Amino acid sequence: MSILAVIMTNIYQQIEQEVQTRKSLLLDLSHRIHAHPELRFEEHQAAEWLCETLTEQGFEVQKGFGTLETAFKASYGPYKAGKPTVAMLCEYDALEGLGHACGHNVIATMGLGAGLALAPLMSELDGNLVVIGTPGEEGGGGKAILIEDGAFKDVDAALMIHPMNENRSSCSLLARVAWEVKYSGVPAHAAASPHLGVNALDAVRLSFNGMDALRQQVTSDVRMHAVINHGGDVANIIPHEASLKVYIRAATREYLYESVVPRMRAVYEGAAIMTGTTVEFVEIAKPYEDMIINQPLASSFAKHAERLGRKLADDEEPVGFGSSDIGNVSHIVPSLQGLLQIDAVALPHTHEFEAAAKSPQGDKAVLDGATILASVAADVFNNPSLLKS
Ligand SMILES: [Zn+2]
Ligand SMILES: [Zn+2]
Repeated sequence: MSILAVIMTNIYQQIEQEVQTRKSLLLDLSHRIHAHPELRFEEHQAAEWLCETLTEQGFEVQKGFGTLETAFKASYGPYKAGKPTVAMLCEYDALEGLGHACGHNVIATMGLGAGLALAPLMSELDGNLVVIGTPGEEGGGGKAILIEDGAFKDVDAALMIHPMNENRSSCSLLARVAWEVKYSGVPAHAAASPHLGVNALDAVRLSFNGMDALRQQVTSDVRMHAVINHGGDVANIIPHEASLKVYIRAATREYLYESVVPRMRAVYEGAAIMTGTTVEFVEIAKPYEDMIINQPLASSFAKHAERLGRKLADDEEPVGFGSSDIGNVSHIVPSLQGLLQIDAVALPHTHEFEAAAKSPQGDKAVLDGATILASVAADVFNNPSLLKS
């Protein structure tokens, strides 16, 4: 064993101990956030709890970052100039009607736990440590906003783990745009003078048909899914205002923007022409980018996950896990989003996954995740060849 390997093995053991020492603190926090779900950009309580804990543990915490009240950035110890900065990313938003069915309470406490475990070791490690609270992942694009506000300017690697139904060292993401498509027509009495109305709901209905026809003519990675946002008010008035909300996704931003988006626009514009309505497109969230997988970070994740006894999925990764604003981060900073199993079957955005996020397996993922993230960061700090690659 080389001297570096001996030193690192010792550091990994210390990290494990530091995480175990904080077991009840981390699990209590995970359960509290789980029991108090807050939607995108309203995560005041979760941000408060996370910031409070970081402050108590000696971090310098900036609560609220740029334009986002529920974001935060916490750093530990004096800044070492010329040394790499590793950021642990915490998500903590929940889903409409489903609580923490994406397990972001687990993400938050893994990131926080990694920060807390590394802090006492920073005097031995050659770098800088920050924990960034990134709100509004579910449709809000919090990280895209944080990028614009400069939160990642001084960051050399961004690390996070998402709970899942399997263990994986990386996860591809789809590029995504999110629109509200609004149709405007002319109201009229639906029985007495329907011939004088221009029906915006018809435009919405026809656009769903258009989407279904287009579905066959795109590559299999493409996802398009919409809900009717407003379908009119009462049955006896021809609906003069109607709208839908749609997400459009593809494996690469090139195919998304050059092929899919223009045809989707044509579908909506076509529905407007057919009905005589006018159509307006409103971007309802920042576009999400596809994920650039950083292989050295993924390999480090795999090494540590296996060390903790986790078996990694070795089949080819399924395309179409979804989209996330960590994709945007990966386009400016080497990034990791590993996956840790919290249930063998359940997938995110289901009642079963919500239950798994506070189960014994969910708790184990919190502790394993904190250990893995901190160990990957230690590799970045003290292994110059990893940092270089
Ligand atoms: Zn989700
Ligand atoms: Zn999620």
